[in-house]
Amino acid sequence: MNQVRFVSIWQRLTVVMGGGVFSLVGLVDLSSGSWAARAFYAFIFVFGAAIAVLGARAGVFADDKGVLQRAVGLSKYIFWCDVSKVSVGPGDGMAPATIAPVLEKVDGSSVVLLSAASYGASTEARMRMQSQRDQLEVLRLRHLKNCNQCRLDRAEKA
Ligand SMILES: [Zn+2]
Repeated sequence: MNQVRFVSIWQRLTVVMGGGVFSLVGLVDLSSGSWAARAFYAFIFVFGAAIAVLGARAGVFADDKGVLQRAVGLSKYIFWCDVSKVSVGPGDGMAPATIAPVLEKVDGSSVVLLSAASYGASTEARMRMQSQRDQLEVLRLRHLKNCNQCRLDRAEKA
């Protein structure tokens, strides 16, 4: 089976380092203070470590069934059946000049693949996002060819 996998290196580094620093702060302070303070810092340590681990696993994974966006917060699976188009767009919110692949859904909503976003909109970054878009679109088109559900949907609309 054909699969693609995209990772936002900068995003991953930021999250892993942030989580790592957080967990170190917890670790250092575990050795002193009252039990309540130690419990608090133990929590900080576990929390920071969990973020670092989740950050290291973040990314976008796609095959001819759909796309999995794995992020620190929420992971989301989108079936190709629900996607009408893949484009490249601004990656709302995280950083001003972020661009990312975008799944435009049949229902009119869209999903920004932030886990594969590029920080900065240089020519190189744009080309990389375009190439990710193309790879996703290839998988989507292959899905369309092989999916009975999509074939039925199209027959209904025609
Ligand atoms: Zn389908």
